[in-house]
Amino acid sequence: MLQTIPSIQDFKQKIRSFKYNHLTIGFVPTMGALHEGHLSLVRQAKREHNKVVVSIFVNPLQFGVNEDFQKYPRTFERDCELLSKEGVDIVFCPDREEMYPPGFCTAVIINNLEDKLCGKSRPGHFRGVAVAVLKLLNLAQPDNAYFGQKDFQQTVVIKRLVSDLHLDVRIKALPTVRTEEGLALSSRNTYLSELEKKDALCLYKALVKARSMADSGIINVKKVIQEMENIICGYASATIDYISIVNAETLESVTSIEKGDVAVLAVRIGKTRLIDNMLL
Ligand code: AMP
Repeated sequence: MLQTIPSIQDFKQKIRSFKYNHLTIGFVPTMGALHEGHLSLVRQAKREHNKVVVSIFVNPLQFGVNEDFQKYPRTFERDCELLSKEGVDIVFCPDREEMYPPGFCTAVIINNLEDKLCGKSRPGHFRGVAVAVLKLLNLAQPDNAYFGQKDFQQTVVIKRLVSDLHLDVRIKALPTVRTEEGLALSSRNTYLSELEKKDALCLYKALVKARSMADSGIINVKKVIQEMENIICGYASATIDYISIVNAETLESVTSIEKGDVAVLAVRIGKTRLIDNMLL
């Protein structure tokens, strides 16, 4: 039976009882508005553990002042129905006050990684992510925590955090779930009109182009990025935030492609900022 727990104290007690009974815990942190991408993480956690814990928390600290915190989709009841069907044990759903009570002032800074790529146009975003995820990992005490490759920079930041702070958890990054046509599933896709949904395919198309160029031996990043830009510029509602090809651990841009590098991009479709990436 799915149990929803908004209180940190109750959540800690529940986790203690799991530990006392030597049950393994798989953890999936989310902001809710769940889709098949989230559920793929839940299913993997379920396969690998006795107990599965999902958190639903729209973390205000990772939104910039002019971003979509207020209008971010919140579908809590539907989320719980989906999670119940998947056999999830606990939904941890603290409110803002519970996570950040008055006086909260601790920050987690991820030097070198937080200012690159998405960090440039979303200053403070990864600090917000890092402090929330660190708190959630401390509370859930999971054996494994599951993240989507879709938020590639986030997975790099979290892995670094876990390694630098010697957290006792394994981070698993799972493949991006897409629509049949290739659009990466995202809670923010609900902002798109039907026409914009079609235009949003340009991210995937550009990435597929990059991969096919790399596969055919073209390793000059300038050339590859030019082709990606050409594709995206063909779509009326698309504006490029960034396109880059980076080393998968340092997130440094490379000038010639090596196996294991990742093509990453952020593109605005109308007013909606979408991100995607592909391993080359
Ligand atoms: P969010 O609710 O957007 O914070 O996402 C929660 C987790 O689900 C993050 O680890 C995301 O990377 C992951 N996720 C989001 N979209 C997808 C997707 N299309 N495929 C796989 N994982 C995803």
